[in-house]
Amino acid sequence: MSAHLGLSVDNLHKRFGEREVLRGVSLSAQPGDVVAIIGSSGSGKSTLLRCLNLLEQPFEGTLRLGDETLALKRDRDGSLTAADDAQLRHWRARLAFVFQSFNLWQHRTVLENVIEAPIHVLGQPRAQAVERGEQLLARVGLSHRLQVYPAQLSGGEQQRVAIARALAVDPEVMLFDEPTSALDPELVGEVLKVMRELAAEGRTMLVVTHEMEFAREVASHAIFLHQGVIEEQGAPREVLVRPASDRLRQFLSGGL
Ligand code: ADP
Ligand code: MG
Repeated sequence: MSAHLGLSVDNLHKRFGEREVLRGVSLSAQPGDVVAIIGSSGSGKSTLLRCLNLLEQPFEGTLRLGDETLALKRDRDGSLTAADDAQLRHWRARLAFVFQSFNLWQHRTVLENVIEAPIHVLGQPRAQAVERGEQLLARVGLSHRLQVYPAQLSGGEQQRVAIARALAVDPEVMLFDEPTSALDPELVGEVLKVMRELAAEGRTMLVVTHEMEFAREVASHAIFLHQGVIEEQGAPREVLVRPASDRLRQFLSGGL
């Protein structure tokens, strides 16, 4: 396993046209930290995660992973982009993304979904990728589902495949964007259980979530995002239990 050296983000700004949806966000995650990111719809949570692994191009800011600072350059419309495709692919493999809607390749089997990046991004031999893929799928309880297609799986199973796929590139940081929000309520627990295990084994994770119990019990740090800025942050047992700001209080009581 590669070294887990943590992530830091300094003064991140993101614009869509004239609209600035992230207005100077700074945060850091030490190795083994689980950072819960909460906030109402439209506050910029997804955009933040997407900027971190460059699915979106930030307008301003610095990203640091381990001892590497990502050198971004301005393109013609002023956004910051990675210097080249190889740098972008390398960066994305170090920060694995788990999406709300799973984003599995529908025309590929479960195992093929998991071994794709190890083979094509990391250049692993197929046999090695298959062996590791089978181990990871066993870990998330899907050994019996290797050769089926995503459409044959429940949402909870699909999300567990997506987690195995993220783990397959041995990322330094895992980014989860509302991983249980698309699931039927009875399937939420099986995904949170896997995430709890990952946290317990010391994975560095940033998790956008509405699961407050998970955030309280598992996260080492909680961040409340409001209109593109961090409104309040701290230990989950403090900020989620005794919020200082009216806005967070309102959000937690379901009024925002
Ligand atoms: P959240 O995940 O907290 O619900 P988002 O990050 O998805 O919020 O969105 C933050 C704001 O940015 C919203 O106002 C949204 O409409 C806007 N936004 C997100 N993606 C785009 C895009 N691709 N183009 C234009 N506006 C966008
Ligand atoms: Mg979102």
